[in-house]
Amino acid sequence: MAVVHNLGFPRIGAKRELKFGLEAYWKGDSSRDALQALGATLRRDHWQAQAGLDLAPVGDFSFYDQMLDMSVTLGNLPERVQGFHGDALDNYFRVARGRSAQGAEDHAGCCGGVAAGEMTKWFDTNYHYIVPEFGAATSFALDATRLLTQLAEARAQGVKAKPVIVGPVTYLALGKARDGSDKLALLPALLDAYAQLLCTLAEHGAEWVQVDEPVLVTELDLDWQHAFNLSYHHLKACPAKLLVATYFGQLEENRYLAANLPVAGLHVDAVCGRDDIVPLLNLLPDHKVLSLGVVDGRNVWKTDLAAVLDWLEPIAERRGERLWIAPSCSLLHVPVDLAGERRLDPELASWLAFAVQKLDELQVLARALREGRASVADALAANAAALASRRASPRVHDPAVRAAVAGIDAHFGRRHGAYPERAARQAALLRLPPYPTTTIGSFPQTASIRQARAGHKAGQLDDAAYRAAMRAEIERSVREQEALGLDVLVHGEAERNDMVEYFGEQLQGYAFSESGWVQSYGSRCVKPPILFGDVGRPRTMTVEWIAHAQSLTAKPVKGMLTGPVTMLNWSFVRDDQPRSASCLQLALAIRQEVLDLERAGVRVIQIDEAALREGLPLRRAQWKRYLGWAVDAFRIAANGVRDDTQIHTHMCYSEFNDIVAAIAAMDADVITIETARSSMELLDAFEHFAYPNAIGPGVYDIHSPNIPSREHIVDLMRKAAGRIPAERLWVNPDCGLKTRQWAEVLPALANMVAAARDLRQAA
Ligand code: GLN
Ligand code: ZN
Repeated sequence: MAVVHNLGFPRIGAKRELKFGLEAYWKGDSSRDALQALGATLRRDHWQAQAGLDLAPVGDFSFYDQMLDMSVTLGNLPERVQGFHGDALDNYFRVARGRSAQGAEDHAGCCGGVAAGEMTKWFDTNYHYIVPEFGAATSFALDATRLLTQLAEARAQGVKAKPVIVGPVTYLALGKARDGSDKLALLPALLDAYAQLLCTLAEHGAEWVQVDEPVLVTELDLDWQHAFNLSYHHLKACPAKLLVATYFGQLEENRYLAANLPVAGLHVDAVCGRDDIVPLLNLLPDHKVLSLGVVDGRNVWKTDLAAVLDWLEPIAERRGERLWIAPSCSLLHVPVDLAGERRLDPELASWLAFAVQKLDELQVLARALREGRASVADALAANAAALASRRASPRVHDPAVRAAVAGIDAHFGRRHGAYPERAARQAALLRLPPYPTTTIGSFPQTASIRQARAGHKAGQLDDAAYRAAMRAEIERSVREQEALGLDVLVHGEAERNDMVEYFGEQLQGYAFSESGWVQSYGSRCVKPPILFGDVGRPRTMTVEWIAHAQSLTAKPVKGMLTGPVTMLNWSFVRDDQPRSASCLQLALAIRQEVLDLERAGVRVIQIDEAALREGLPLRRAQWKRYLGWAVDAFRIAANGVRDDTQIHTHMCYSEFNDIVAAIAAMDADVITIETARSSMELLDAFEHFAYPNAIGPGVYDIHSPNIPSREHIVDLMRKAAGRIPAERLWVNPDCGLKTRQWAEVLPALANMVAAARDLRQAA
């Protein structure tokens, strides 16, 4: 009883081999054959790491993204990349990355230049997928090569293979109709391609196919519910047994729908969807397999094995061999192997499980179910001891932090005066012109900055030398900004490796892995810090740098902090208390820094909340609760200051429609946002809401090396002034400039400052 399987393994490699392989190939430093060989090696290694499983995923490996893979499999690449003369893999990278993909240069005149596919977040994770594109004329043509190749490889290696694909409804739901046509009209044609695919996989020896349908944990209207029934009734003629997999949340009102699809099995997330399971058991026809995701596939903590067994044993009793166990979702979202960590201290490491360790946990659970707990007594005892040490650790529980949180009362989140009153005081103090200019915080992270940081980390550069190097970089950026004539300056963030890591390193309660990399998109990986304990701020984190910058100029320098919600959403967080509780602790720590900056004479303080939006729950019904505590946390971090201290916040995305009210409730004096690409249309949401405070709509896209012209910026700001009163407008780029070169930044900002002068003159 209890089949053990996995939904997906991290593909990037324990040492990020895939990242480096891809980047070398894109640069032209290695061959396509070498990249293909690397792919095969990684797949082999990953199947070996999963050797104990009864069924291992096949087709979860990807050179870029599983949604893009699915588009290739279905023959649904955008029209603009069709007719490419080069290799299919290069064409694949063209969709992923645009024209710069290797191989495309040879075709510059005919079929070379092409825009990249749109990229967006995979549900509420930090993974990004390439959005499928549809139109009324879209047709599908099966190309099963990738899956069949990997299936043949797996079978040749003796892997008990279970191909994994994105299901038809999720594929359609996450795609975009570029011509505004009805995507659902494509379903019949899409299902024909899926039916063909499933038959082909069965012919090539796949008994089970895992069909991922995570949209089942979101709110579905009747049309989409109907699409589910239609799809799986259509596909049931295929000989392969289908395991429909859902994850990342609860089925709730979709429970009945999911339980009664005509498929052989259903996988559900028993970590975030635990409450679903008992009602689901009563709905699920007896002959179906129920796969329970009992090990958290999205976080790094050890599973409480005894607690899972207490809950699982009666279910296993009832369902016998029709119970499977697995991680809650693909392990794509966690690092590969804890064994690679040599610097984490042993106590903390003993609390953690990465992908490989999570699969070990599943084996222990399976054995306990099959042969009784006594058969794995040692493993269970070790697990219990680790959990007990975590529960009791004074590093996790700090009474002083608890007391500080308990001491929060209503005045913490409230400014003294209302915005108009504050704005008047700030104007008197800062004496800024109309259309004041500023930047979002970072200036280019140059080679010399990176060298200094690497040297410092490696111990070649001592603290004093490193600090001197950073102070010199700060001075350079202040001088450049003065020469440009910007109004509110920044220090440039030279000393920061990353906007979350930099703060996490200085806060109590955070730990850092050495190689805990997780794929974000394509070859891009992030290493989320691990928030393991009560958060404290033992000493100031930014005051020295900002004060240094301020000492160099008479212009106001903006202090720069990362907000509590962003710290939370970009970290692996505690699972032993609600996210909101961790967020509140972060808010208090940042509040201390805000107050210390103010005490040091800093008049303008920016608190970035780049990740506020991405923390939104998958179900709209839960948005209000999340936004409630997230906004409270921001307010607690920001609002302890005097009325004449100006609070800025920054958010770099372009969908504000649903959250303007929450943003207004944050009550920052100034918010800078990304708008350039939408040509100011997204200000409509703010206009419509009658957003009361000041806004700096980004006037140029910092992701592009293009230099925006002065006229273009004036034009954009005029559009902005049509929506927001000019006296509440600021002029700034879309986001930080750390990925740009000085040679791009200087002319762009010069045009921006000139445009602001034009606007003032015309006013
Ligand atoms: N202050 C940060 C910077 O300028 C903001 C980055 C972000 O919003 N992602 O780099
Ligand atoms: Zn930004």
